[in-house]
Amino acid sequence: MANAGIQTLATASAEETEAVGRRLAAGLRGGAVLALEGDLGAGKTTLVRGLAAGLGLDPAAVSSPTFVLVQEYAGDDARLGLAHIDAYRLSGPDELEGLDWSRLLADDGVAIVVEWASRVAAALPASRTTTVTLAATGESARSITIEPPRTWTTCPATGIRVPPDAPSWPFASERARLADLYGWFAGTHTISRPIEEGDDPSEFPPEG
Ligand code: ADP
Ligand code: MG
Repeated sequence: MANAGIQTLATASAEETEAVGRRLAAGLRGGAVLALEGDLGAGKTTLVRGLAAGLGLDPAAVSSPTFVLVQEYAGDDARLGLAHIDAYRLSGPDELEGLDWSRLLADDGVAIVVEWASRVAAALPASRTTTVTLAATGESARSITIEPPRTWTTCPATGIRVPPDAPSWPFASERARLADLYGWFAGTHTISRPIEEGDDPSEFPPEG
């Protein structure tokens, strides 16, 4: 399946979300990008505190960089520096250049974490971007979905090899995506005989 490797976790407190950040930090290398998605209050900045702690940086220095669009954290004992970007007020990927984006991306001593990443999605290198989606599922309950960086894959509809940066990934094209969708509908909506008047719908076998 194209979505192999996607993991979903549940946390019940801010501390648990920080712990997820610490665990993610352990797998980060220089040049890695973490794209954070999720509404206001979902826990994006909380997770960044855990990332900082996991890299050996000061988690207390992390705040929502809403007015300062990029904050860089560094420390003598840190395994990596961390650049923390809030894309909420950016109008699009072009505005990243004003934040020294090219230099940050090229710096292999720095990992980058972006809140509201979908605003600048086109600028994120798909082959090194891990997408983390947070959603509130209760007052202090959150679901956290982690999608590893994209790799070259085989289009499930056409069998063509698809590079990580293809906009239609994992499909070779939007056309291939639609063809695949059509296949699903055609496959799941078959019934063994035409519906007749008087049929009790509850007698039909459940879908799927
Ligand atoms: P965002 O950056 O997504 O806007 P923040 O991390 O700044 O969100 O804020 C999340 C708020 O939700 C904090 O006040 C935090 O204490 C609270 N919270 C409650 N439960 C959780 C949880 N399970 N994970 C993360 N934050 C939580
Ligand atoms: Mg925030």
